[in-house]
Amino acid sequence: MHQEMRFCPCCATPLQWMAQQEDSGLKERLRCPSCDWTHWGNPTPVLAAVVENDQGEVLLARNALWQEGVFGLITGFMEAGESPEAGICREVLEETGLRTKALRMLGAWEFLRMNQVLIAYHVRVEGSVQLSPELVEFRWQTAQQVRCWPSGTGYALAHWVRSKGIEPQFGAFRPGQSPEPDPSKWPLQPWAEDARFMVAPPL
Ligand SMILES: [Zn+2]
Repeated sequence: MHQEMRFCPCCATPLQWMAQQEDSGLKERLRCPSCDWTHWGNPTPVLAAVVENDQGEVLLARNALWQEGVFGLITGFMEAGESPEAGICREVLEETGLRTKALRMLGAWEFLRMNQVLIAYHVRVEGSVQLSPELVEFRWQTAQQVRCWPSGTGYALAHWVRSKGIEPQFGAFRPGQSPEPDPSKWPLQPWAEDARFMVAPPL
């Protein structure tokens, strides 16, 4: 879970909930009463990859911390000083040993529980899989075989499946979790005037 910050990172004074005038009006946030530092709590960028080989299959991997049978995309944190594109190529290489030949963005999704924003890419790779110790198991699946799941990485996978002309099938990520996609995330809602655009979410 995302943990709340308690002390100012600049001067170590305990933070307090304080109201201040912002663009959107009076806003209460954790702020430092001593040096005026504000804890914005912006989401952390996380990168994800739908890794595809030359046979048109996608790589799914099981994290060492996950129970048996649970597979997901390759993910990792974006590091300071790198672009999202360089970051996902680095993560794919570090975690799977595969070299990215080309990539395109699939989309971005929120992960509210962890206060993260997921930036997902479709990457085409070469080489053979050498898993990092973080990952214990992998499988290649076709777009027909693969099951998507209702969270950011699962919606990214659904976009990839659909780009193959196949309607994605959804399932629970872990046993006991909901298999149902969020209606605001799936199916896609193309804009009537130009189907390359999606209808804007309500604010
Ligand atoms: Zn301070």
